[in-house]
Amino acid sequence: MSYIGRFAPSPTGPLHMGSLVAAVASYLQAKSHQGKWLLRIEDLDPPREIKGAADNIIRTLEQFGFEWDDEICYQSKRSELYEEILQQLNVQGHIYSCACSRTDIHATGSMTAFGVRYAGTCRAGIARGKSARSIRLMVTDTSIFFADKIQGNYQQNLHQDIGDFVVRRADGQTAYQLAVVIDDAAQGITEIVRGSDLLDSTPRQIFLQQLLDYTTPQYAHIPVIVNRQGEKLSKQTRATAIDTDSAGAALVHALCYLQQQPPRSLRHATVGEIWDWAREHWQLQHVARQRMIKA
Ligand code: GLU
Repeated sequence: MSYIGRFAPSPTGPLHMGSLVAAVASYLQAKSHQGKWLLRIEDLDPPREIKGAADNIIRTLEQFGFEWDDEICYQSKRSELYEEILQQLNVQGHIYSCACSRTDIHATGSMTAFGVRYAGTCRAGIARGKSARSIRLMVTDTSIFFADKIQGNYQQNLHQDIGDFVVRRADGQTAYQLAVVIDDAAQGITEIVRGSDLLDSTPRQIFLQQLLDYTTPQYAHIPVIVNRQGEKLSKQTRATAIDTDSAGAALVHALCYLQQQPPRSLRHATVGEIWDWAREHWQLQHVARQRMIKA
């Protein structure tokens, strides 16, 4: 089977070092397998999106010399497909409407290592006088295991750790967990290389893949870059946008985060030369088995 990888940024701001590292890792992993590398814009969260951010990310990737295969996929244009799959899950009896507000969820839920576990309040039906807000997927009391290529063996029991989770949000948008599973399957993704902040989401995604009869891809979760306060670099933590005028330096920097040990001589090389070196020397097994790396 031929390799298909992807990079799936959310357009919540310009590309920063954390997202560049994810792009570089997924790209080199695909290219070292003579695979395809697809670009998907995960624009399903209008309140968090910044106008122009998607174009800005695409332009930045171009300036870095990334080349993606096929057309760019925009999740905002795929609601019909998501709706169809949601219907299918409904017919199979896997989903239910939920009337709980954030306050209800916190009041009735229990705290686990992964946040507030949903208590399942609306599983048996919505209480009289309340109206449906979101749609949730029923999970089962079984353990989901997977072997991450970087982080090693990982296990979660969705019933105990997470509870029934949202597949359609109160604002009517398809939730990330469902959209990402549908698109990874539709695009034939064979391996997902992304930040370790999504490690905890992977069992939910594998559970959905099993329900929908999709093949589960391989996973490799790279360490996320955190600031001095231990917060993941993101727009919310005011991560600085990548300076494309010094793309070469940023690329070498990204390779250092990924423990690829680029030679000193590359510091003055062109972006093309850096990519040539990186393609030839990329080793996923050199990436640190850590959830976080300090910036
Ligand atoms: N859109 C997500 C993000 O930017 C990544 C999703 C994924 O790689 O599965 O954090």
